[in-house]
Amino acid sequence: MKTIQRTKIVDLLALTTYGCEVNVKGWVRTRRGSKQVAFVALNDGSTIKNVQIVIDLDKIDEELVKKISTGTCLSVNGTLVESIGGGQSVEVQATEIEILGECDNTYPLQKKGQTMEFMRSVAHLRPRTNTFGAIFRIRHNMAYAIHKFFHDRGFYYFHTPIITASDCEGAGQMFQVTTMNLYDLKKDEQGSIKYDDDFFGKQASLTVSGQLEGELAATALGAIYTFGPTFRAENSNTPRHLAEFWMIEPEVAFNDIVDNMNLAEEFIKYCVSWALDNCMDDIKFLNDMIDKELIERLRSIVNTEFVRLKYTEGIEILEKAVADGHKFEFPVYWGVDLASEHERYLVEHHFKRPVILTDYPKEIKAFYMKQNEDGKTVRAMDVLFPKIGEIIGGSEREADYNKLLTRIEELGIPMKDMWWYLDTRRYGSCPHSGFGLGFERLLLFVTGMSNIRDVIPFPRTPNNAEF
Ligand code: ATP
Ligand code: MN
Repeated sequence: MKTIQRTKIVDLLALTTYGCEVNVKGWVRTRRGSKQVAFVALNDGSTIKNVQIVIDLDKIDEELVKKISTGTCLSVNGTLVESIGGGQSVEVQATEIEILGECDNTYPLQKKGQTMEFMRSVAHLRPRTNTFGAIFRIRHNMAYAIHKFFHDRGFYYFHTPIITASDCEGAGQMFQVTTMNLYDLKKDEQGSIKYDDDFFGKQASLTVSGQLEGELAATALGAIYTFGPTFRAENSNTPRHLAEFWMIEPEVAFNDIVDNMNLAEEFIKYCVSWALDNCMDDIKFLNDMIDKELIERLRSIVNTEFVRLKYTEGIEILEKAVADGHKFEFPVYWGVDLASEHERYLVEHHFKRPVILTDYPKEIKAFYMKQNEDGKTVRAMDVLFPKIGEIIGGSEREADYNKLLTRIEELGIPMKDMWWYLDTRRYGSCPHSGFGLGFERLLLFVTGMSNIRDVIPFPRTPNNAEF
């Protein structure tokens, strides 16, 4: 076969140099035709759009054409021609075809309209479908937008450890990391496991948040963010929780809770705008196939101001809803950790726009949050979104050494694990704030998908670590 420089389909579809010779490579999505001509829709992942390959059976060996079916990988040389009818402006009239990889009829992606459950069982192949191709292109674009947002504003990308020996973050159940022989564990007189001979000489786990180390960096570099894998062994089989997910955690010196809310709102709006400006082909597809209100919802978020409301006022609204006959699965009272149904009620029914809820009871929030004057609440902020509930959790941090220490003692957090964190408050303490955004929760919102297992390539959830 003649050597011609390959053109990606995304670029090829924009060409108007009719009559020129091109080479395209990709996987066959569909094949149809008559005795005389075959039409092949080829996709190479560079865009959701396929290019149509027209195969004249007088020109191409019939035995070879017979082998072309859904999933086959082809290299095609041909002439670029203007397309008559159909969606695309150009197609390729094949002159030479090479089959790079055959594909037999056991290929699981032959039929359209498979369920999402089925797609998860073929997660190794699902990126080859329109839906998952679109999702993973958007996922890449969002990651890029996040780095750009922070870089443009002078934040430094700071790498916090994935293996940690402090289990005091309290954000969730941890996965243990060990090289010990689990069939032969050494124990002390009390029956507790001895970690002296373990790899790190003490108990170690996978991180549930990079925040504590992020604070060390923010109180030196000024403004930082982390963006990395995060692990929580919570056994909650919900459409919004993964055991392994990606989190973005900005942390900023001298920001108070209002600055923190402003940053969170600007950040989410930037990411959504980025998707609308750069991923429209994919978003349009998802709007047509998955969620008919997707584009409208994305546009409206960019243009509305988020509601800012105190937890106590939120509870009052929910209690009124209950009094008016609204049924929640979980009870509502001051002090309760809001369930997703409560958060969604505020966002979807009551305000009909995103809500930033602040000043939560200290009992349901982490030890490091700045304590309010009332002695009951802390300067926490959760950003609540339609269809999702909590998308961001953050706070102004307690900067006062003594107040922080008192809280740590009240909660019985082991000091030996905390000395380095407390040093930020001992040596030149400063007001600072930050938050965590779950990357996959953002992707749920931007793609309109309803299960978090479908916005990460290889989901890890209870009883599932395939691929
Ligand atoms: P939730 O109440 O929804 O379980 P959380 O309060 O435990 O979340 P935080 O500790 O505040 O979560 O973490 C910050 C952000 O990380 C959350 O707002 C959410 O977007 C995301 N997140 C938390 N847990 C998970 C998870 N298991 N899977 C995916 N994203 C998560
Ligand atoms: Mn939270």
